[in-house]
Amino acid sequence: MPTYKAPVEDVMFLLNDVFGIERYGNLPGFSDLSPDTLEAILSEAAKLCEEVLQPLNRVGDLEGCKRHEDGRVTTPKGFKEAYEAYRSGGWMGLSVPEEYGGQNLPATINAVMQEFVSAANLSFGMYPGLTQGAVAAILVHGSNEIKQKFLPKMIEGAWSGTMNLTEPHCGTDLGLLKTKAVPQGDGSYKISGTKIFISAGEHDLTENIVHLVLARIEGAPQGTKGISLFVVPKLKVNADGSLGGPNGVSCGSIEHKMGIHGNSTCVMNYDDATGYLIGEANKGLNAMFVMMNEARLAVGIQGLGLSEVAYQNAAVYAKDRLQGRALTGTKFPDKPADPIIVHPDIRRILLSVKSFNEAARALVLWTALRADVLHRSGDAKARQTSDDHLGLMTPVIKGVLTDKGFENAVMAQQVYGGHGYIAEWGMEQFVRDARIAMIYEGANGIQALDLVGRKLPRDGGRAVMAFFSEVEGFLKEHASDEAMKPYVAPLKTAFGHLQQATMWFMQNAMGKPDNAGAGSADYMHLFGLVALGYMWALMAKSAQAKLAAAANGAEDRLKTKLLTGRFFMERMLPESAAHLARISSGAATMMDVPMESF
Ligand SMILES: Cc1cc2nc3c(=O)[nH]c(=O)nc-3n(C[C@H](O)[C@H](O)[C@H](O)COP(=O)(O)OP(=O)(O)OC[C@H]3O[C@@H](n4cnc5c(N)ncnc54)[C@H](O)[C@@H]3O)c2cc1C
Repeated sequence: MPTYKAPVEDVMFLLNDVFGIERYGNLPGFSDLSPDTLEAILSEAAKLCEEVLQPLNRVGDLEGCKRHEDGRVTTPKGFKEAYEAYRSGGWMGLSVPEEYGGQNLPATINAVMQEFVSAANLSFGMYPGLTQGAVAAILVHGSNEIKQKFLPKMIEGAWSGTMNLTEPHCGTDLGLLKTKAVPQGDGSYKISGTKIFISAGEHDLTENIVHLVLARIEGAPQGTKGISLFVVPKLKVNADGSLGGPNGVSCGSIEHKMGIHGNSTCVMNYDDATGYLIGEANKGLNAMFVMMNEARLAVGIQGLGLSEVAYQNAAVYAKDRLQGRALTGTKFPDKPADPIIVHPDIRRILLSVKSFNEAARALVLWTALRADVLHRSGDAKARQTSDDHLGLMTPVIKGVLTDKGFENAVMAQQVYGGHGYIAEWGMEQFVRDARIAMIYEGANGIQALDLVGRKLPRDGGRAVMAFFSEVEGFLKEHASDEAMKPYVAPLKTAFGHLQQATMWFMQNAMGKPDNAGAGSADYMHLFGLVALGYMWALMAKSAQAKLAAAANGAEDRLKTKLLTGRFFMERMLPESAAHLARISSGAATMMDVPMESF
């Protein structure tokens, strides 16, 4: 049976030593966050995830959700009690304003919690995760009345949330959507249509479910310019906030799927259901983007969570499983064979995953801190820089962390040999569960197009230039730092490849968009490699500084950190050259193959 230990120490190193969280002390929510308080919160989070959520991960996989004849859906055994523990612990409202019952702690802490929860039990985590996304959209775009009516109950965890975009004939291309909204003259609308693949669409964890639904108001333009966003509760809500009767919302069926069995994926039918507009009419995609951006970061974190838990179990197995002898001679003569961790190929696998995870965690927290600046700072310039950063990094975090999350789960499974393929070890569940993160919240191909087509050119390239100049500044500052050479030199090479690829797009993709489309996935991964490489450079710098000062018993951990970073620089970062070569080969060959030849 797999186990999980939340990486609290690593998070503390990142927040305290690498990113200096105390520098954010002037922002609301950060001021009371001493290192001790931070550690106490993270330890509580770890306890819930390790002791309550993780043991239910396999139960959820085996049992799945059930739809009953009357349309009710029940979640796997134990999920209700776990949800109660999560809810009553105040985790739902961790980083939302106190005005609605939240705790107003930094969103960065919530991002850490999201990693722990996803690693422990992804299927479970999606129930509160979607609620948090819906809360974010209502906070930004809901009227005061809507906020008062829905937010306190959602933040308390008594009601959950969902996002309803996908329809049978439209997923990526939301301009095709048909769900319609008819104004009733009293400010409400009647919503009718069918949505598919709706995560947590129906379940038994909460007394009400608040659906955020994209629909087209009668007579609105076709395409994306005619889409509006509505809040549609499963049970009507009276003016005083109490629950009313059913609301024309029902779950038609639940999907039988590859993984995340503990989460209900529903076909949702809306038959003249009463809904309320959020934000402006026909600007629904903008409003939904608040939820989608939040969710994209959360899904990227899911990729990291699964990669981490898969790694942890593979590392334990590699120290335990005895097969063969070390190439350099027997290491454990008292045993019938050496543990497989003596084999370089097993170490290659483990370190590939470990070195990715630690840098990915850094990238997530670096970006989450920017999100906190964006939402909490009074300094307009700082907010703009943070907004740019978030826009740029969101597709990178979503696309790269989930592509690699799946790949890493497969690599960790390989450490188990045949046992990795057998259900009771849990590794095949990690592989199956990790797969969805590459698809939902915008398939990864779309994330790559978003990066290349929208985020790079936005505001004359302001965001990408800011990132480039930060990396360049670091490289210059440490150019003659001997101790940092093993980190700085490879980063410089990979960064050069990224600059060349960016230039290549500017020269070859403006007039020939197929060149951008053909190179976008490679560009996203090249960008991710450089961002992760930069994270390793920052971590190496902090680890060296800490070792040089008093490391207080953390010497071994810091030395391992430095070696893991070197592995990334030597073994992972050189992939940048292959990405550049593929990008600059352009689209001609692939587009020349006639359609009939496929
Ligand atoms: C388990 C699960 C849970 C889900 N949860 C939710 C949910 O809670 N709410 C919700 O609304 N939806 C949800 N979805 C739907 C999910 O977001 C969509 O499946 C996803 O966005 C892709 O849409 P699609 O399946 O229609 O694929 P399509 O849009 O048909 O895309 C098929 C392929 O073509 C590619 N493609 C499409 N257009 C382009 C283009 N212009 N350029 C290049 N490539 C392109 C895509 O990248 C993809 O690889 C869920 C799906 C699953 C399986």
